[in-house]
Amino acid sequence: MNVAKDLDVDLGRAAACEVRRLYGDLEVDALAERMGVAVETSDRDGGYGTVVVFADYTPRPPRIRLYRRAIEVLDGHLAGYPDRDRLPEGTRPLFLAHELFHHWEALHPGSRRSREQSEHAAGSFAMTLLGLTRHPEQLDRLARGAFQS
Ligand SMILES: [Zn+2]
Repeated sequence: MNVAKDLDVDLGRAAACEVRRLYGDLEVDALAERMGVAVETSDRDGGYGTVVVFADYTPRPPRIRLYRRAIEVLDGHLAGYPDRDRLPEGTRPLFLAHELFHHWEALHPGSRRSREQSEHAAGSFAMTLLGLTRHPEQLDRLARGAFQS
């Protein structure tokens, strides 16, 4: 892990701690509501071509959309995932938490970073918020496997 990545991990962790301090020890759905973000579930395919999208965020108005089918397919492949026991209802809370970081970013426009840094920080944010033991980038590998068949 290089220094830049460590900074992203720290940023995601610090943002999660700030959100917990401001809004309390709530479920992720309740946190989204407190933060003024609408959460929608879509039955459409969020992806395009070979790219699978599980969730996305739009800032105006703040909205997170979760793609049910993609999440269900991934959940069917969770057997070997190390943090499976911490995600008893599947990966939905993880994607919701990830997108909440992008909302936090939208509220803190001074903190500029590359797309890659932002994604890595979002993973660290979700990890801290949900008390996971592994950075969810491991899930990316699992997701690629789930959709290769
Ligand atoms: Zn993201």
